[in-house]
Amino acid sequence: MSPAIDTPVAELNRVGRAAAKCLQRLGIATAKDLLFYFPFRYEDFSLVAPIKDVRDHEAVTVRGKIELIANKRSLRKRTIITEALVADGTGRLRAVWFGQPFIAKNLKVGDTVYLSGSVASDMFGRQMVSPSYEKERMKNVARPDRSVGEFRMQNATTHTARIVPIYSTTSGLTQKQIRFLMKQVVPLATAFTDWLPAELRERADLQPLADAIRAIHFPENRSELKYAERRLKFDELFVLQLRAEMIRQSLKRVKAPALHFQEQETRAFVASLPFILTKDQKIAAWEILRDLERLEPMNRLLEGDVGSGKTVVGAMALYNCVLNGYQGVMLAPTEILAAQHYNSITALLPDKKITLLTGSEIRNWSDGSFGPYGLRTSASEKLEIREKLKTRRKEELLRLIKVGEAELIIGTHAILQEDVQFKKLGLVVVDEQQRFGVEQRKALRERSGEPGMAPHFLSMSATPIPRSFALTLYGDLDISLIKEKPPGRQSIITRLVEPKNREKAYQFIRGQIKVGRQAFVICPLISNEEEGKGKKEKGKGELESYISHFPFPISDDKKSVLSEYKKLSGQIFPDLRVGCLHGRMRSKEKDETMKKFVTAELDILVSTAVVEVGVDIPNASVMMIEGAERFGLAQLHQFRGRVGRSDQQSYCLLFTEIDAQTALQRLAYFEKNTDGFKLAEYDLETRGPGEVYGTAQSGMMNLKLATMKDIEIIKLARELARGIDFTKYPSLREKVKEWERTVHLE
Ligand code: ADP
Ligand code: MG
Repeated sequence: MSPAIDTPVAELNRVGRAAAKCLQRLGIATAKDLLFYFPFRYEDFSLVAPIKDVRDHEAVTVRGKIELIANKRSLRKRTIITEALVADGTGRLRAVWFGQPFIAKNLKVGDTVYLSGSVASDMFGRQMVSPSYEKERMKNVARPDRSVGEFRMQNATTHTARIVPIYSTTSGLTQKQIRFLMKQVVPLATAFTDWLPAELRERADLQPLADAIRAIHFPENRSELKYAERRLKFDELFVLQLRAEMIRQSLKRVKAPALHFQEQETRAFVASLPFILTKDQKIAAWEILRDLERLEPMNRLLEGDVGSGKTVVGAMALYNCVLNGYQGVMLAPTEILAAQHYNSITALLPDKKITLLTGSEIRNWSDGSFGPYGLRTSASEKLEIREKLKTRRKEELLRLIKVGEAELIIGTHAILQEDVQFKKLGLVVVDEQQRFGVEQRKALRERSGEPGMAPHFLSMSATPIPRSFALTLYGDLDISLIKEKPPGRQSIITRLVEPKNREKAYQFIRGQIKVGRQAFVICPLISNEEEGKGKKEKGKGELESYISHFPFPISDDKKSVLSEYKKLSGQIFPDLRVGCLHGRMRSKEKDETMKKFVTAELDILVSTAVVEVGVDIPNASVMMIEGAERFGLAQLHQFRGRVGRSDQQSYCLLFTEIDAQTALQRLAYFEKNTDGFKLAEYDLETRGPGEVYGTAQSGMMNLKLATMKDIEIIKLARELARGIDFTKYPSLREKVKEWERTVHLE
């Protein structure tokens, strides 16, 4: 009797305790786990050739009779060499193995064997070194094994004379053992009920699951393998799309206010701008305004590189919202950024009633805007008075929001935490936060002032996320893209600086500061004790700080914020004002340091990746990055975007202490390319999403076979998922639930 699909592996034929332990280490507990433990590559030994035709260095299989086999001790080394002579009627071939004396026991003179490997000629003639070997089993030859269900076991060999699967394994468990077990369990795949309804399978030209599982382990040929991969990749990607679709459909069930496009006012607004909108800005605005008119909540991501002009597009949406008599919210990740938005939106929409609500600041339209960079610089008020004033002002602000007098509310998460009740909330714009959680959304919906209604959502981000990745991870979002930048932007001069030129770089920075500019110095670590092994700094912008810390070897001379701060403030620039910023500081300290930099009370800011996203410091002209190889290109690009925000020439200086070719190549690519999307794609293709966007996000996708390069399958999965009727296909809903159970959602 064959074992059941949930049989523990330990109960399978010939699995000893040691092997079971190894399997456990690989995360394999049951026969089913084993089936879903896919090979990570294959070796193609399907070519079976007569010995006389075998060419040197070609992956091949020969079938022959063993004429001689013996162990010898090597002359110089003390390894045992096993030597065999195999003949097939067309010729003879020598085979040798090192340090595996048991082979001489397994194979006997007279056995017919398959040997897979490649042949090389040397002074002893032609020989195969360490070939895979397998005895021919007579019954298999006589009659292809058809005993197991519908499987065609034309090829009875497991380790040779076929496309051989290679699994990642752990010490103590050989490829042969895994394959042997796999061969046992593969017939069990027929016991699966295919979760994909036949109708969908047909539409997408996908094979049944059981066939795909058999073929992914033991493909008869390459095209069969391709087809199996396609089916299994589709499964991985489809479940993500289905989940996104479930979210989308549930969002659709709530209604949103239809915010009508106010053409005349919008035109007047655009005409009043001191610049002409780029084509991409116009398209994005149009897509958004069209969404707002619908009775279902918009759920859109506006992606555009730093400086591409997202704010004005967001402002247009907010403007239309207000013109429709609804309130709008704009959320920023930090207080500084919120204050900047308050200023720029107030400037864009001077006659609208705009308020600011953050943990420490409260403003409304009668207060006017802030001083330079959105900061109140007069710190003359006494603390207590300020506190009292704050409470009073807050109460007043909450009242203004509740009665609907405040039209636009700009702020941080304080808007979510405080006791804010809206009169009629129509639109929420979220800036620079990767994923605005379901929870936060619910909080806002409940206070939107209109029971049963949900506001529209617009998320804005400068993180370049290639389309394939966005479609996979954010399948429930619609995406608008701003690719082109406003004309006339200064390009930032980027240089990978050789270690010997470090002094020159410091002199250069000094020169910039002398003419009144400021500089950032970014380091990958906080302190030297901390060695980053998986210990990442979680800052505010989730994705921003996750974005890759590459596993390249670290030089001894580690660059940390604390050590560099000490060095720069003590030795290199003792006469300049140097500050430091990192994630272990209290948020108040962080804010203070940042404010000092913004108001130019500091010349140099030494920081980790926490350095605020989106903050405008036009006066900064140098971005110096230590240990650049440890950052993802997309993240380096974000850093670079911190400078070059005025009409002054700005510079990005990269330092690396390692000279690994691949690392240098990446940085050279970064030097030459300024398109954030291209950079992200480069990393995505060469390093994979886990390293580009951090494991927290991409680990969530739980992909084994599929990658971001499978754009066709991603699209197909998305197409099939869109608008699917879950009541018609209960197995699909079940699969999503099962996926949610296995994947740890944040
Ligand atoms: P980001 O997309 O990084 O949020 P912002 O919205 O802050 O970019 O815009 C950066 C700067 O570009 C702002 O000063 C803004 O006024 C300006 N800007 C926006 N759109 C245009 C345009 N079409 N032409 C010229 N300048 C523009
Ligand atoms: Mg911005």
